Amino acid sequence: MPKYISDCTVLHNGVEMPWLGLGVWRVKEGQEVESAVRWAIEAGYRSIDTAAIYGNEVGVGRAIRDAGVRREDLFITTKVWNADQGYESTLQAFEQSRKKLGLDYIDLYLIHWPVKGKYKATWKALEKLYKDGFVRAIGVSNFQIHHLQDVMADCEIKPMVNQVEFHPLLTQKELLGFCQAQQIQLEAWSPLMQGNLDHPTLAELSRKYEKTPAQIVLRWDLQQQVVTIPKSVTHSRILENANVFDFELSTEDMGKIAAMNRNKRFGPDPDNFDF
Ligand code: NDP
Repeated sequence: MPKYISDCTVLHNGVEMPWLGLGVWRVKEGQEVESAVRWAIEAGYRSIDTAAIYGNEVGVGRAIRDAGVRREDLFITTKVWNADQGYESTLQAFEQSRKKLGLDYIDLYLIHWPVKGKYKATWKALEKLYKDGFVRAIGVSNFQIHHLQDVMADCEIKPMVNQVEFHPLLTQKELLGFCQAQQIQLEAWSPLMQGNLDHPTLAELSRKYEKTPAQIVLRWDLQQQVVTIPKSVTHSRILENANVFDFELSTEDMGKIAAMNRNKRFGPDPDNFDF
């Protein structure tokens, strides 16, 4: 059970990944992303989740260089975008991301979406980057069980992480069970339901634990061994979202949150997207 913001999960290759990170989707390049990353690092976050498509890798890179934290204490994730999938084009996309971030190596490189007919060649490129030492861990995002099985059928290296939409309205029970059985770390995107936190169960637990609805949800992630990457550009919320290591939800209350599930997605369906 994570007790400190510095606590990490250990991926199946032995690499440590913080349980909590800052997401920066829809955070503007320049001042906005630099401030958010700076505040997060000051608050003790060590993991930042960006992607080529977010268009803010330069600002993330600048903020982490200015932060005065040792490179080896940070955990930086970025992702190959759909248009760049395929073997050679992924290698090129990686190099662009690495240069924009201004880093010698990336901690975690993910396939952003399972683009049909392409993601297996993309995976081969990630395996090469891993073997060449440019990235400490490789993984996927938005992969359903069948996508994972397809990759695992003929991969050399099993994905270390699967980052998917995951929150109380989309509890992904089967996928979580599959990933845990396979030692693939599940990571929650849109953990705060993109800010839609107004729900009677969360309000009730918020009163009971004297924590905010956001903190209740993030704690629920941690207690079921799910890495979580809430996004905020608001200083007070960046602090609030990190303050989830000093309380514990009871088993009964964990169940109450799980019972909120409606299989509701705020984002696209990985089996039916056209971008
Ligand atoms: P989140 O679920 O993290 O919610 C972010 C929203 O909630 C923002 O509007 C934010 O507002 C608000 N918020 C943050 N903290 C609080 C709080 N304590 N109380 C109330 N509201 C709050 O959404 P995201 O979709 O951004 O997901 C998180 C991260 O996951 C992304 O940033 C990205 O890194 C990753 N992601 C990955 C995807 C993928 O395909 N792999 C897809 C989508 C996301 P404000 O910023 O104004 O404070």
